[in-house]
Amino acid sequence: MTFTVGSPVAVVASDAADQPERTPELEALYRGFEREMLIPLWTEIGDLMPLSPRSKAVPHPWRWTALLPMAERAGELVPVGRGGERRAIAPANPGLGGRPFATPTPWPGPAVRDAHALARAGRTVRVLERSPEFAEVGAGLQMAPNATSILKEWGLLRQVLDAGVTPRRLLFKDALDGTDLTHLDLDDAFETRFGAPYVAIHRGDLLDILARACLRAGVELVPGCAVLDAVPGADGAVVHSSLGEHAAGLVVVADGLRSRLRARFSDDEPICSGYVAYRGAFPIAELDRDLDAETARNVVVHIGPGCHLVRYPLRRGEILNTVAVFRSPSYEPGAEDWGGPEELDAAFADCGPAVHESLRSLWRDRRWPMYDRRPISRWTDGRLVLTGDAAHPMLQYLAQGACQAIEDAYCLAAELGAQPDLAGALKSYEAERTVRTARVQDTARIWGDMWHLDGVGRLLRNELFRVRDPRDDTYVDWLYA
Ligand SMILES: Cc1cc2nc3c(=O)[nH]c(=O)nc-3n(C[C@H](O)[C@H](O)[C@H](O)COP(=O)(O)OP(=O)(O)OC[C@H]3O[C@@H](n4cnc5c(N)ncnc54)[C@H](O)[C@@H]3O)c2cc1C
Repeated sequence: MTFTVGSPVAVVASDAADQPERTPELEALYRGFEREMLIPLWTEIGDLMPLSPRSKAVPHPWRWTALLPMAERAGELVPVGRGGERRAIAPANPGLGGRPFATPTPWPGPAVRDAHALARAGRTVRVLERSPEFAEVGAGLQMAPNATSILKEWGLLRQVLDAGVTPRRLLFKDALDGTDLTHLDLDDAFETRFGAPYVAIHRGDLLDILARACLRAGVELVPGCAVLDAVPGADGAVVHSSLGEHAAGLVVVADGLRSRLRARFSDDEPICSGYVAYRGAFPIAELDRDLDAETARNVVVHIGPGCHLVRYPLRRGEILNTVAVFRSPSYEPGAEDWGGPEELDAAFADCGPAVHESLRSLWRDRRWPMYDRRPISRWTDGRLVLTGDAAHPMLQYLAQGACQAIEDAYCLAAELGAQPDLAGALKSYEAERTVRTARVQDTARIWGDMWHLDGVGRLLRNELFRVRDPRDDTYVDWLYA
């Protein structure tokens, strides 16, 4: 997908329907704002935020005590040039016992992900998608609070919760002996701590929610339009596509792992891990067996030597999603045909009965070889900017690829809204996001290596996992907060 963004208009003014509920406390807070204080507010908040990594991608409650008095003195809506407006927002933060906190971003409204965020920020957006329709393979997606907090701010979380499942636990088990290793409770305390829930959702359902939000925000969705090239110019860029040329003020490149336009930024190629994934999503009512309570309520990850299997429910608990991943013995660099279904059963042969039973819930006619790329530091070329897997494809072990793409969209819209200078805004986006996503890409590789250990390594890993205090959030704080 590639997004063309029309003339830069600047910020805000969202649909009332998509704004957070206005409690009497928030109303009182907004009423207390003074117009002329707003612009100093942005400057002050900018100074209070750590520079590396800068925090605009996700609203953090850091130093809220310092921020709140300024927010209370600030104006509600002020003109900021080029006909735009900024709004100071102070949503209630459950992580702070319901107390409000200020965020340095203008309110980014809803529009599919980047398009959604940019359209709501007052920009004219056209989405060019080569597939004949906006649809997604029927598998699941886990979304951690770093993404769901953004969906919440876009006013889309309610719809996501209605369509998805909030699992109770992220549970790790040894795939060979079936024992529990460690878990992360995804309960109310987790949601309070991170300000948003952990959600499992069918990809098609999420795409549907985002696409409808795009249409509401005035985004033009153009399916069946393959982008061939995009050429940056002085004040914009021209996209060459199967449906002709599109001139735009900004082109947001979001064409995935095998991005055609990434070649403008790097001559790298996707790196194959030698692992391959098989997926399956089946209605639970159609399974020829009852689902145990553990699988019905949790994200369960069985980790084993050179393989793992993940299961979780989707769509209000009506669908069971299964992903089985293994190292293919026939993979070698340059090989065309490897990781076929005949290798699947052999790869999990030594695993316990729960894993064997789960292998029956997979589509065997499709497979997803696992690739990533090494981080790159340049994501902007004039009026072209990279996002999502086109910018930072990662192995899926942290379940963060799509979550990071949502963070990209939020950050890009925030930077474009915060700075009238487009080139400066794109550079700020690049500086913030390249650092964060490089860390996630690297950690995903290490995390996968830990899952797939054998021999003494596996025994040591299991011991480390078992002694971990399940209430210790050290390992996820940096990612989810
Ligand atoms: C097995 C597996 C499990 C995963 N689980 C999770 C998870 O639980 N949580 C999570 O956050 N992430 C997960 N991910 C990662 C996630 O799927 C990706 O990070 C995410 O889909 C990236 O989104 P994207 O829009 O950048 O790219 P894509 O989803 O690849 O979308 C790219 C789009 O661009 C279009 N396109 C490509 N080329 C062109 C062109 N030339 N012209 C026009 N359109 C074009 C494509 O048709 C496609 O629609 C998982 C990945 C895998 C493989």
